[in-house]
Amino acid sequence: MARSRTIGAHLSIAGGLYKAVESAVALSMDTVQVFTHSPQSWSVTGADHDWLAKTLSPSEISDFRTALEGSGLAQPVAHDSYLINLASHDDRLWEKSIAAFTGELLRAEALGLLGVVMHPGAATNGDVEAGLDRVAQALDRIHRATAGVATLTLLETTAGQGSCLGHRFEHLGAILKRVATPGRVGVCVDTCHIFAAGYAIGSAAEFQATLAEFDQVVGLDQIRAFHLNDSLKPFGSRVDRHAAIGRGCLGLEPFRLLLNEPRFARVPMFLETPKGDENGEELDAINLRTLRGLIGQTEPIAPAFQLEAAPAKKTAKKAARNAAQPAARKTKKTT
Ligand SMILES: [Zn+2]
Ligand SMILES: [Zn+2]
Repeated sequence: MARSRTIGAHLSIAGGLYKAVESAVALSMDTVQVFTHSPQSWSVTGADHDWLAKTLSPSEISDFRTALEGSGLAQPVAHDSYLINLASHDDRLWEKSIAAFTGELLRAEALGLLGVVMHPGAATNGDVEAGLDRVAQALDRIHRATAGVATLTLLETTAGQGSCLGHRFEHLGAILKRVATPGRVGVCVDTCHIFAAGYAIGSAAEFQATLAEFDQVVGLDQIRAFHLNDSLKPFGSRVDRHAAIGRGCLGLEPFRLLLNEPRFARVPMFLETPKGDENGEELDAINLRTLRGLIGQTEPIAPAFQLEAAPAKKTAKKAARNAAQPAARKTKKTT
């Protein structure tokens, strides 16, 4: 008897927000993640707009809520726009980001979502401490402006590309300590990102050690969502490239460990793996099946690649090349 987990994916809202709910149901998922507007554009310029009215009509909201009610999906979330940078030292971008994330929270609340997953931001001037302060100050303003909103702000662990904050658990711990209303904030752990950031999760011992470190620095009870992604790039690379489950540098074992960890039984998990299809089947469906197949599995699964330290360039390239080809069956069979 397999213990159940709440697993879904980030799905497209093309044709309407409610379409993502329909797609999740069609793929027999338990939950869904969406963008509530185009992630690559500011929906309006300036800070004094009614973001909710500007971007979601009453019928968009009711269509989504109706679809959700009949769907059986649990704990759906949104992901915020990639342009938002609450850590920015540039006041104009910072103010714009505050206005935009306020809109993200209001839209998600209107849709009845558990939280908005967000990247903490980038300290582009290299000052990490000041960047963390900026994030906390921004969140305080946003949470004051959205008092009473139940949708959580979910800080995501990042791979640490460039000057991006969030690749050290300490960054998330610091933001949580500095905000005035920590109850409004939770964490989303991305398996690809923490691995790329240099947290090992490949064996039971590594996995438990990383969890213990997270617990000490942030608190495991802060985890309100997971992103389940394999990594195209090697351990510690600090490069954020997602791969299909079991076909990247992570292999299947970290997912087996995560899906059977009793402390995360009620935490929703979302795939953000490459889309497309293989032999007529959607990759999301294949990834979902792979994940569900790991639930209840008690035997460790050998890693696909040797991950000790940084691999030689040639090996890393080869691994990435193999992982980049979903059809290459040899990379799938890791056991
Ligand atoms: Zn993610
Ligand atoms: Zn990512």
